Amino acid sequence: MAVLPLSDLHAWFLAHQRDLPWRRRRDAYAVWLSEIMLQQTRVDTVVPYFERFVARFPGFEALALADEQEVLKLWEGLGYYARARNLLAAARRIAARHNGRFPDSLDAAEALPGIARSTAGAILSAAYDRPLPVLDGNVKRVLARIMAIREDLTRPAAVRKLWETAGDLVLAAPDPDRHNQAMMELGATCCTPRAPDCATCPVATACKALDLGIQAGIPAPKKTRTIPHHHVAVAVIVEDGRTLIQQRPSEGLLGGLWEFPGGKVEPGETPAQAVVRELAEELALAVEAGDELATVKHAYSHFRITLHAFSCRRIRQPPVDSGPAASRTPDAAAVSPPPCDPSLPPAARTARWVPLEHLDDYPFPKANKKVLDRLLGR
Ligand code: SF4
Repeated sequence: MAVLPLSDLHAWFLAHQRDLPWRRRRDAYAVWLSEIMLQQTRVDTVVPYFERFVARFPGFEALALADEQEVLKLWEGLGYYARARNLLAAARRIAARHNGRFPDSLDAAEALPGIARSTAGAILSAAYDRPLPVLDGNVKRVLARIMAIREDLTRPAAVRKLWETAGDLVLAAPDPDRHNQAMMELGATCCTPRAPDCATCPVATACKALDLGIQAGIPAPKKTRTIPHHHVAVAVIVEDGRTLIQQRPSEGLLGGLWEFPGGKVEPGETPAQAVVRELAEELALAVEAGDELATVKHAYSHFRITLHAFSCRRIRQPPVDSGPAASRTPDAAAVSPPPCDPSLPPAARTARWVPLEHLDDYPFPKANKKVLDRLLGR
């Protein structure tokens, strides 16, 4: 690699950096929070979430005392909810084991939930001036182009080379935090995935890919894969001004969030039949499905769903003709809890009858939130 003109890069950053809230306070908490929120998420989406979060929880100790449901509610809509749960777990550990101060060693930082080497580098370089590199997706792309690495960037040899180069560069920089931010900013605003703006790039003189005219092909495009599509059917049951919602298990996808009860539509089933079967199996409730209240399409990182939300009514007896699943429905005796929580039959997940005016207190995934909006006429 030709020698990178670091002073040009850093001057470019000072002149062109975006005004972002986490750049106004470079303490470990703000940097940590922004780095976690920015994973897989666009900057303009993150800004309002970041501002609300630091207003409510201004530091590690305040966050460590938080209730997980409140944290998830603040995270609602940002996706990848394991990040929020890890954030809370890490804040609690920082409060308990590090006196409320982010640890200043790389090993201790990486031992915290949800913190990998690149995030640790960003935090430690900003908060403690440690010359540790950041290697997020933007920096990987910039370095791969500068060095014209054409191979798959996930291969161990490429990963090693990228880390080594990122480490050498930050060691040579007079201000590690500024350098890391400059590299990230360059990837985010100039050396972008599809249309790198090489004419204005401060490191163009050192860029091998530009020299070879191959910058648009680096990184090598990923192989396209078929994304599975599932149909999910859920029940919206309203009784006495309350509706039934269910909490997802605390681990895994959307862990700890609330949703309308239901589940995946099985082959050979209609969505209406699926919702009847799911409520019988999951909650021992016999319902009949009425009108489809909302149909919501939503994409997750590895699959897509179409969510069919039905207005449902509880009945004493299981419906006679609701398909093969009806035979698995428990009898009516098990299906008649009053419309309040405690006597609901035992289930793998918590279910709760909630007054409509309190539904906004609960964190919902995006697709369910759209159903909620339809239910509440918004
Ligand atoms: S010259 Fe172009 S390809 Fe090379 S680092 Fe700059 S923007 Fe990226």
